[in-house]
Amino acid sequence: MSRSFNFCSGPAALPEAVLKKAQAELLNWHGAGVSVMEMSHRSSEFTSILESAKARLTRLLDIPDNYEILFVQGGASTLFAQIPANFVTDHKTVCYLDTGAWSAKAIKEAKKYADVIVSGSTKEQNYTTVPSWEELNLDPNAAYLHITPNETIGGLEFDDLPETDLPIIADLSSTILSRSIDVSKYGMIYAGAQKNVGPAGVVICIVRKDLLERSDNEALPSTWSFANLAKNNSMINTPPTFAIYLADLVFEWLEALGGVEAIEKVNEQKAARLYKAIDGSKLYSNPIDVAYRSRMNVPFVLADESLEQTFLAESEAAGLRTLAGHRSVGGMRASIYNAMPVEGVEALIEFMRDFESRYG
Ligand code: PMP
Repeated sequence: MSRSFNFCSGPAALPEAVLKKAQAELLNWHGAGVSVMEMSHRSSEFTSILESAKARLTRLLDIPDNYEILFVQGGASTLFAQIPANFVTDHKTVCYLDTGAWSAKAIKEAKKYADVIVSGSTKEQNYTTVPSWEELNLDPNAAYLHITPNETIGGLEFDDLPETDLPIIADLSSTILSRSIDVSKYGMIYAGAQKNVGPAGVVICIVRKDLLERSDNEALPSTWSFANLAKNNSMINTPPTFAIYLADLVFEWLEALGGVEAIEKVNEQKAARLYKAIDGSKLYSNPIDVAYRSRMNVPFVLADESLEQTFLAESEAAGLRTLAGHRSVGGMRASIYNAMPVEGVEALIEFMRDFESRYG
């Protein structure tokens, strides 16, 4: 059976070469006589995988020495609570930008630990654009500013960072490794793996070392403390070993392709072609401010809503999987992360044109 082009927002498509390598190594990893899933996380074999993943990620994102890479469990949603729990200490407030559904969820959790200042929000514009950086309400004494540079549900992405001395904490779950970033501008980056990095089960965190001091706090649950995770090389307890191994293989694949700069060019092309097809049609439309359209998640609606189910059934039958929008917003959404080949996007555009010619 041939594989589909998978447009799922997450868990998302993985590079086929990575799946094949994992398959070849599954029963007997590098002569260890067992699979990665079956070996002690303290073994020299697994430690070498963890160190390899850290080294590759450091090279891919050019991570400076004053940052620590952590592999955290519980999904990005747990980080929504864990971040304020770790960093608030004597700071009373935290600042958040509200640019979509994921920002809103992060804000809701942060309120359980701190006084949240919503520094800017585009809720009233249905999250179709970003707030003006000049008008942000930033408390200079806040513990940090939290942002969500790619809103996976709304399909909104921004690249430029607000001017502030506050440490910026960014949820890059759906955009990490898809475009170049300057890590030194962030206090912390975190990303659930299941979009651009690997399978679900691990969150990649990159934390500036001076911020870790704030979380060296005995009152925190020990598995929640970033400082404690750093001290224990992300192995306070059993880490999600297989997810970390797959992440290492994805990093290896990305390095072989030429790294983040190389995949960024491909991602630009894929997104440009798809938005062009949407804008050039009478049937499809995308509501997001053109300057902030996501390169990773492309939502679109059909002018005639009653055609949605037919679109989904026919696209699925054509081998284009999971094009339904998030259950909270409906419509369609094509997630086109790093592992989506150009051919997948071309096949989708071809299908959309053909569908429009028959029903439009
Ligand atoms: N933040 C963003 C931007 C996301 O897209 C998601 C998941 N789609 C999450 C957080 C939550 O991730 P998890 O399911 O790993 O908790």
